Amino acid sequence: MRIFPITALVKVTYEKLNKYFVDRGTQADAMIASGQVYTLIATKFITEEETKSNIYFVQQFDCQRFQFQVEERVNSRERRQMEKFTVRLDQRTCDCGKLQKLHMLCAYVIAVCKHINIKYLQYVNSVYTLDYMSIKSC
Ligand SMILES: [Zn+2]
Repeated sequence: MRIFPITALVKVTYEKLNKYFVDRGTQADAMIASGQVYTLIATKFITEEETKSNIYFVQQFDCQRFQFQVEERVNSRERRQMEKFTVRLDQRTCDCGKLQKLHMLCAYVIAVCKHINIKYLQYVNSVYTLDYMSIKSC
């Protein structure tokens, strides 16, 4: 087994990390140039939640358009309890917890935003954007 001096280990580690961050920054710049706004993982997550949002029924609780109850549309083939979630847009909360914990929207928030015809991407935190990733990796 070959033993490296500590300075060689630090240098190799630094060079590998530097290459990693340069590669990530270059990748993010290319994605931004192609018109993408969010990271690949965030885009995939948002797309999946957007698809799920189509099966929910939204009821509005107040006239200020802040509080909503979201429940699955009744599916006669399934014999399970339909879940209900409360979404409060003014407090940026949802019973599922994704909005509070991950600062990321969920299918219920998307369903509510579609119901009142507002843009749901405003509930995605900027840390999921390529701009943020690109800035932080420089
Ligand atoms: Zn939620």
